[in-house]
Amino acid sequence: MSRAVVLGGGLAGVLAAAALTRHADEVVVLESDHYPASPRPRRGLPQSHHNHVLMTGGIRALDELLPGVVDDLLDAGAHRRNMPGDCLIFSGEGWFHRFKTEADLIACSRPLLDEVVRSHIDVEVVQGVSAVGLTGDAEKVTGVRTPDGVIDADLVVDATGRRSQVLNWLSALGVPLVEEVRVPSGVSYATRLYEGPGDIPAVMVHPKYTPARGGTLFPIEGDRWIVTMTGDPPLDEEGFLDYARSLRDPVIADLIEKAKPVGPIRPCHDTVNRRRHFEDAKLPAGFLAVGDSVVMVNPVYSHGMSVAALTALRIAKEGPSQRAVAEEADRSWRMAVAEPVKGRGNAKVGRAVLSSPGLAAELFHAQALIPAVRDHQAVFQAMVGDLAEPLTSEQAISQFAWPR
Ligand SMILES: Cc1cc2nc3c(=O)[nH]c(=O)nc-3n(C[C@H](O)[C@H](O)[C@H](O)COP(=O)(O)OP(=O)(O)OC[C@H]3O[C@@H](n4cnc5c(N)ncnc54)[C@H](O)[C@@H]3O)c2cc1C
Repeated sequence: MSRAVVLGGGLAGVLAAAALTRHADEVVVLESDHYPASPRPRRGLPQSHHNHVLMTGGIRALDELLPGVVDDLLDAGAHRRNMPGDCLIFSGEGWFHRFKTEADLIACSRPLLDEVVRSHIDVEVVQGVSAVGLTGDAEKVTGVRTPDGVIDADLVVDATGRRSQVLNWLSALGVPLVEEVRVPSGVSYATRLYEGPGDIPAVMVHPKYTPARGGTLFPIEGDRWIVTMTGDPPLDEEGFLDYARSLRDPVIADLIEKAKPVGPIRPCHDTVNRRRHFEDAKLPAGFLAVGDSVVMVNPVYSHGMSVAALTALRIAKEGPSQRAVAEEADRSWRMAVAEPVKGRGNAKVGRAVLSSPGLAAELFHAQALIPAVRDHQAVFQAMVGDLAEPLTSEQAISQFAWPR
């Protein structure tokens, strides 16, 4: 393949571009926005104001694709937290005990993550140029339309994210409909930054049933905390704090009440789960879609960036394949749209998870998009054996040191 053009220079786009350098003579990224000179949110990425944590699957894939990138992120001030070893978690069933698993997360601002990743990628990004369509026909895509003309390509990759217009562009070439599935999450987000020390655990207060009211607090670079309320949080100062206090436990309100806010409270209502089944469509040759254009899940699951990294690693190893993209999307999609499991038997499992390293590892491995180590004996024992009592709120909170 001689020339690949990637549309969109967000995370999925630049990672796919890095992967394609192993398969194409020339790789170019078209980005409609301009990157900021220093890590700051930008217009083309409205979600960059909000919390973006990277899960273990994404951490590992990113480091394999771009060796050294994770160390650079941590050097730049990102925080690594084990789940639940370094996390204070109030789940639907109660407070988690603290123990180590193989699942980690990395917390930093999205702009910092993007900047560090881009510093590892040696691909031309043409900024300020929007793709407005494709050229070719239903059999083969031959290039991209921009307001200034046509750019020819042997492969065009759509990585224009949540607002991708690619279904219209394909339809204009006569490509049969691509099936799109939408599952509303029913939640909104509100996010605010606070000044606060980095040496605190990640804090998560989950709702009893999803979708509903919850909150998280993650330490990020620059001695700041990024605090998110989910459900239907208000956007005014007093309402935001009251909402945090009204969660199933007020620990986040207790922390932010004493902290200095940085900037406004920002909403996000765009939380629908959406999947486009490109892999089952009769697509033209010379076309691939990746990232949020293919699958986007309720941000509560913190999966999109990890799926982008895992996908890019597959492309690097195997070359471009819509089937491989779909396989990487599947796990995240299934987890996000699964019905909440209810019933007596499952309630017992739920409670056991709080105190069993075996069961907790399974849960956190799923969330972290890494294969679980399946020790069935240990898992069975944990389910039927004596269950340790879930922790009280005082016991859970006192497992960690807190800023005064
Ligand atoms: C509120 C919120 C919180 C989230 N939190 C997390 C989290 O904690 N962890 C996680 O892993 N994921 C999270 N995500 C998901 C994550 O943002 C995406 O999965 C991730 O950005 C990868 O998407 P992408 O590269 O496909 O699209 P984007 O990152 O949105 O990038 C698309 C790019 O394409 C450009 N573009 C758009 N149209 C055109 C065009 N016509 N021509 C050229 N360029 C174009 C845009 O400017 C942008 O740069 C969150 C999402 C939201 C909305």
